[in-house]
Amino acid sequence: MKIVLAEKLTAHNDEIARSNRQHLDSAHVLALNFIGSPGTGKTSLLERTLHTRSPHQRMGVIEGDLFTARDAERIASHGIPVVQINTRGACHLDAAMVSRALSGIDLATVDLLLIENVGNLVCPAGCDLGEHVRVTVLSVTEGSDKPAKYPLVFCRSDAVVLTKLDLLDHTDFDLDAAVHDIHALNPDCEVFLTSARTGQGMERWSQWLSGLLR
Ligand code: MG
Ligand code: ZN
Repeated sequence: MKIVLAEKLTAHNDEIARSNRQHLDSAHVLALNFIGSPGTGKTSLLERTLHTRSPHQRMGVIEGDLFTARDAERIASHGIPVVQINTRGACHLDAAMVSRALSGIDLATVDLLLIENVGNLVCPAGCDLGEHVRVTVLSVTEGSDKPAKYPLVFCRSDAVVLTKLDLLDHTDFDLDAAVHDIHALNPDCEVFLTSARTGQGMERWSQWLSGLLR
């Protein structure tokens, strides 16, 4: 019975996700879902992305967090429309939460909508929010075994952004092995090597984002 319930819940979520995607499509907004562990640097990546964007790229942000509004406050300081979702302890965003958040954003003023999921590498992988593009964020301080240990999220991502590359020499992270494992799971996945602190890799990342809008 529990399995039946889980299927029903997923089906219901997928229905809302489809409706979110239609809503975004009709407003000509492209949405990205950023997934990664706590502390992997998702918010810092978004801040760098906002900082390096070209002036004609209009961005909005949905910030998923367990309890606080701290990340949303960081994003709002860049003068970007941002909506906070507090999941009150729930470990991932779902399509209904994003649907409610969408009503708080004037989509006519946004081309790219960046959704920061709750810090978690596991269940966000199985939950469609209605996004068009999925990005997994992985820091070199977490260990290069993560793609092999959490294959689902890497299989279902369009891009992987490796973060904190400035710390690479202070870790045992095996860059070649990580990139190899990501491409073994998902041959078409784009991989970006970045550092929000130094700006490394941000140009190529921003160009890729621009390319999504064409
Ligand atoms: Mg964050
Ligand atoms: Zn969850």
